[in-house]
Amino acid sequence: MDKRVLKLRAPENLITLLDRVAYWRGVPRSRLALSILADGVRDFSPIDTLSIFSIVKGKINLSDQLLARLISVETHGGELFCTFCRSYSCSHVQRAKRFLVTARRSIFSSMTTLDHLGEKG
Ligand SMILES: [Zn+2]
Repeated sequence: MDKRVLKLRAPENLITLLDRVAYWRGVPRSRLALSILADGVRDFSPIDTLSIFSIVKGKINLSDQLLARLISVETHGGELFCTFCRSYSCSHVQRAKRFLVTARRSIFSSMTTLDHLGEKG
């Protein structure tokens, strides 16, 4: 996927806060800006820009079409954590949570019968 340069002129206090958050998360400013931009426009895309690519050794790997890369979501202290955004709440984590809820429902719905619920047919 082609990548183009986007230059932004932003107020100094916004850049200061962006740098503070980037430092706190341990990511470069440009990566934080990409993460925030992608999260801000993702809902306006006509196609689903995040899909589950693979699940390997406790990691959920997502294909992110907006960022044109694979993103890993893993657990840190029992919470899902995005290794790209270094966040517990970005769109990658939200997508991984939706996947897990759907998978859990699917597993339990196929395993649950009336016998499991104590009902006799
Ligand atoms: Zn993320």
